[in-house]
Amino acid sequence: MRRIPVHVISASILSLLAVCAVIGLAFVFGEARKAEPVYPGPGVTAVRRLSEWCPALSGTAGDTDVYVLDSGVPGASMLVLGGTHPNEPAGYLSAIMLIEYCRPRCGILYVIPRANNSAFSCTDPLEAAPMTFEIETQNGKRVFRFGSRATNPVDQWPDSEEYVHASSGQILSGSETRNLNRAYPGREDGTLTEKVAFGITQLIRSEGIDITADLHEASPEYTTVNAVVAHEDAFGLALLMMWDVEENFRISLEESPKNLHGLTHRELGDYTDTMAVLMETANPSQGRLHGKIDGDLVVSGRDEYYVRASSYGAVTVPYGEEGISISERCARHITALASMAGMYAFAGPGEELDLGDMPAYGEIIANGIGYYLHDPV
Ligand SMILES: [Zn+2]
Repeated sequence: MRRIPVHVISASILSLLAVCAVIGLAFVFGEARKAEPVYPGPGVTAVRRLSEWCPALSGTAGDTDVYVLDSGVPGASMLVLGGTHPNEPAGYLSAIMLIEYCRPRCGILYVIPRANNSAFSCTDPLEAAPMTFEIETQNGKRVFRFGSRATNPVDQWPDSEEYVHASSGQILSGSETRNLNRAYPGREDGTLTEKVAFGITQLIRSEGIDITADLHEASPEYTTVNAVVAHEDAFGLALLMMWDVEENFRISLEESPKNLHGLTHRELGDYTDTMAVLMETANPSQGRLHGKIDGDLVVSGRDEYYVRASSYGAVTVPYGEEGISISERCARHITALASMAGMYAFAGPGEELDLGDMPAYGEIIANGIGYYLHDPV
C-alpha cells in the first residue's frame, strides 16, 4: 500500500483546522448580529420600524424597532433614544426598562432602544471590551450586548480621511463618519449612519415629538458627565428637571454648543420643533483609567484603579469603593426622564405627559434595574 507523505497529512490537518476556525468565527459573527430579546410590557401599543420614516433603511442593519406606548389620553409626546452608542449600556438598558415596565397615563412615549442597531454587532478595536454582560432579573439572568461607539465597518466602509458633516460643512476625523451622534439631521441618500439619523429626524417631524432625550454614558474622568446637555429651546425644561431631581442626585446643565454639529441636542433642536436633550452618566467601563474590563465591571462599575484615580482628583464625579453600578446609572436616566415628562406642562404649551407609576430613584438602586425587567424566557 502506498504511504501518504507526511507533508500531505500536515497540510490536510491544517486545512481542516482552518475550515473549523472559519466556521467557528462565522458562528461568533452571526451570533453578534442577533438582537437580544425585548419583551413589550403592558404599556406598548405598537412596534414599528425606523424604515417607516426612512424607507432606504429597509432590509439594512440600520433598521431598528420603534416601540410606541400610547396612553390613549391626548397629551404631549416624548422620544427616548437608547443605544446611540452601544458601549454606553445604561442608556439602552433604561430604554428597555421603559418598554417592559412603563405604562403612560397621558400622552405618548416612543422608545428606540437600539438607535444604532449596526453598532451592537461589534466592539471597538483595541478596547478588549466584553461582547455581553448579564443582568439579574427577579427570576434569572438576562444577557445584553455590549457594542461599539460606531456603526459596524462591515455595514459602512471605508471611512474617508475626513468626515464632512453634510449640512454644516464641519470637518471631523474620518472615524466619526460612523458615529450616529455626529450624523444629524442625516440624509436619506447618505451613508447608513446618516440614513439612521434621517429616519429619527423624520420620525420626530412627522409624529410631532415634543421632547427628545438621547441617553448616553461617559468616562468618569470626562468633564461632561452626570450632566444634561440641552438645546436652547429645551433649556427651561432641563432646568426644571435639574431642580426637581436635586433631592435624589445632582445633575449639571450645559447648553448645547451652537458650533458643534451633528449631535442630537443641536441638530434635532434646530431642524425640528422638539425639545432636544442628551444625558450622560458615569460609566467606568468606558474610561481610560480602569483595570480589567469585563461584564462585571460594566454592571458593578467597581474598579480599584478608579478609586485610586479619584483619590488623586483625576475623576470628575464622586467615586468610592462601591463604584457606580449600572442600576444607579439607569436610576439617574429614568428619574430624569420621568421628571421631564412631568415638567413639560410647565415648560411647554400646557400639554401633559405622564409616564404613570414609575419606581423612585432609591427604589431602582435598592432593587436593581433587573427587578423592573421581564424575566428571561
Ligand atoms: Zn455617547
